[in-house]
Amino acid sequence: MLIVSEETCKAVVGRSDAFAAVENVFSAMASGDAYNFPVIREAIGHADALYGFKSGFDRAGLVLGLKSGGYWPGNIDKGLTNHQSTVFLFDPDTGQLQALVGGNYLTAIRTAAASSVSIAHLARKDAKVLGMVGAGHQAGFQLRAAAEQRDFEKVVAWNFHPDMLPKLGAVAEEIGLPFEAVERDQLGAEADVIISITSAHDALMMKDWVKPGTHLACMGTDTKGKQEVDPALVAAATVFTDEIAQSTTIGEAQHAISKGLISEADITSIGEVINGTHPGRTSDAEITLFDGTGVGLQDLAVASVAARLAEEGGQAQQIQL
Ligand code: NAD
Repeated sequence: MLIVSEETCKAVVGRSDAFAAVENVFSAMASGDAYNFPVIREAIGHADALYGFKSGFDRAGLVLGLKSGGYWPGNIDKGLTNHQSTVFLFDPDTGQLQALVGGNYLTAIRTAAASSVSIAHLARKDAKVLGMVGAGHQAGFQLRAAAEQRDFEKVVAWNFHPDMLPKLGAVAEEIGLPFEAVERDQLGAEADVIISITSAHDALMMKDWVKPGTHLACMGTDTKGKQEVDPALVAAATVFTDEIAQSTTIGEAQHAISKGLISEADITSIGEVINGTHPGRTSDAEITLFDGTGVGLQDLAVASVAARLAEEGGQAQQIQL
């Protein structure tokens, strides 16, 4: 069995590896070759923690396993990140444990890959301005991955806590993009692509602020009750997602669904666009919206890449169970 540490994951898995792994698994999900099992997420009544499992099987890639972990709000005071997770990979032929892989960096990079895959397949080719709503831990990862998909000339950003924006500005500077902190209506008026990655529970971006042709990747809403955009904006957009069952219940679309503005039939799996069974964007004026809810198969896909690359490079620890 292999043990792949957080540091090794950082050393061996790059953005292009994560992009390919996530794109492939979205494709396999849409063609019925890969499926996620029901998610468990529970408050454990200790340390204010939320703990759970996300698991699945990719029959095409032969990846079976689970990500276990959750959210420990007190960790920050201990010098640790609040989100903690570990991926377990099993041999699909025997059920034997194949690898234990640190899941924190991989969660960040697979989430960035998801919005990046959506930009690659759905944003206008001539997109020039990237709008960032959110400036927390994930935002820098999302920004770096998005910047590789189009010839962006500028980043405009807004955050609920403005003091967090300079850190995101430093990422933009590092990759050579001018960065401007703006109000939300200005962000909507300027941006061709908008990524939202916040813990908000109310709409932050309103329909009338967003111009025709915009692509939105809504990445923060992954739980019932969370919300980042106006349900009228979701209704006005052509909606794509990683997993329809999650989009309607815990994703951004939950609010437009509960208001009766859209139905499940209005949401398309992004894997269909990747597989060419859905055309994706059909006009320059269309607003496209990717509801990125986050699925276990994304974690397993990048963990499997990490385990393979670490083993090939002699960077994984081998132990006998
Ligand atoms: P973080 O705690 O580092 O940052 C939180 C962000 O939300 C900051 O920008 C903060 O200013 C903002 N925020 C906090 N309260 C807000 C409010 N009331 N209104 C508006 N904004 C508010 O978290 P992170 O690691 O950057 O993750 C951001 C969000 O993305 C989290 O909600 C997390 O659960 C979610 N997430 C989703 C996926 C996925 O696959 N879809 C994966 C990872 C994280």
